[in-house]
Amino acid sequence: MAKKLVIVGSGPSGLTAAIYAARADLQPLVIEGFMKGGQPGGQLMTTTEVENFPGFPEGVDGPELISRMKKQAERFGTEFIMEDIESVDFASRPFTLKTGSRTVTAHSVIVSTGASAQILDLPSVKKFWGKGISACATCDGALPIFRNQIIAVIGGGDSAIEEAIFLTRFASKVLLIHRRNEFRASKAMQKRVFDNPKIQIIFDSVLEEVYGGQFTEGVKLKNVKSGEISDYPCKGLFMAIGHTPNTGFLGGALDLDQKGYIKVKAPSSATNIDGVFACGDVTDPHYRQAISAAGTGCVAALDAERWLHTNDLG
Ligand SMILES: Cc1cc2nc3c(=O)[nH]c(=O)nc-3n(C[C@H](O)[C@H](O)[C@H](O)COP(=O)(O)OP(=O)(O)OC[C@H]3O[C@@H](n4cnc5c(N)ncnc54)[C@H](O)[C@@H]3O)c2cc1C
Repeated sequence: MAKKLVIVGSGPSGLTAAIYAARADLQPLVIEGFMKGGQPGGQLMTTTEVENFPGFPEGVDGPELISRMKKQAERFGTEFIMEDIESVDFASRPFTLKTGSRTVTAHSVIVSTGASAQILDLPSVKKFWGKGISACATCDGALPIFRNQIIAVIGGGDSAIEEAIFLTRFASKVLLIHRRNEFRASKAMQKRVFDNPKIQIIFDSVLEEVYGGQFTEGVKLKNVKSGEISDYPCKGLFMAIGHTPNTGFLGGALDLDQKGYIKVKAPSSATNIDGVFACGDVTDPHYRQAISAAGTGCVAALDAERWLHTNDLG
């Protein structure tokens, strides 16, 4: 029998959608994800300290916050399956979603599969991930370990420049490292870094290694023109080299923007397919925060509930 609502993804957006949908008696099924696009629970499972989610004045560990959201969704009757969706058919109703081992049918679907930060594939980056290395300045820049310290940012686009400027509020100095000898960012953004005395720009350089003890203590950079290796002590390293929205499994079933994010008819969560909704980072190249993802998860559940009701399916 077709489910009333299937939610794909179990980060803050999918779990918030599940809480709302379960309380509205839609008995949602959440396909949590497994290996694709991160992990069950989403991006917050990779972070220790979340200081900006409302309701936790002392901060909360990412996995603890997710575990609480999941319990809240379970309390109202949400079902969970820890698998990845590999393909979908949204061309006819009920909609069909396939994992490696089963086929699920649903009258409505919420896609909340997030976006994965691109990370340089170096053993030392893996070693110091979460120990001074992050992919989100808004999330982690204000943490005490980075205050009044030298912080490095890697990237050359608008978001790298935004992150570097943001980090100057806390850091004693920001090293902005880019592999080319000019930025891709807009001229107006570039002017803001060139004019900022706290930012040191290091062009033509790539990350060779991160080093340290318990936490990051510095980076070794290779000049791509001379091959010379230079050592830059720093207590933090922020990767700002882009995000990949987890939309590959859709196989063209939904309209995407140029970067692969799902297009929604804002302020709603409606996609181009009637009955399919999307929320969270998979729709959002700008804000990428747990609370904004959770907010749109609420919107998607309310939209799905109204759509099911209007179509006599819920
Ligand atoms: C290191 C780090 C620290 C952060 N710290 C903070 C912070 O302090 N505060 C803050 O507000 N934000 C923080 N963020 C950002 C925040 O984690 C994201 O904005 C938020 O998790 C987005 O939620 P989401 O539900 O849209 O997607 P995600 O959390 O990315 O969840 C996506 C879900 O989709 C699943 N999925 C993907 N593909 C498939 C598939 N094919 N089939 C089934 N499931 C699939 C994944 O398994 C996962 O469950 C941080 C991010 C990172 C990486």
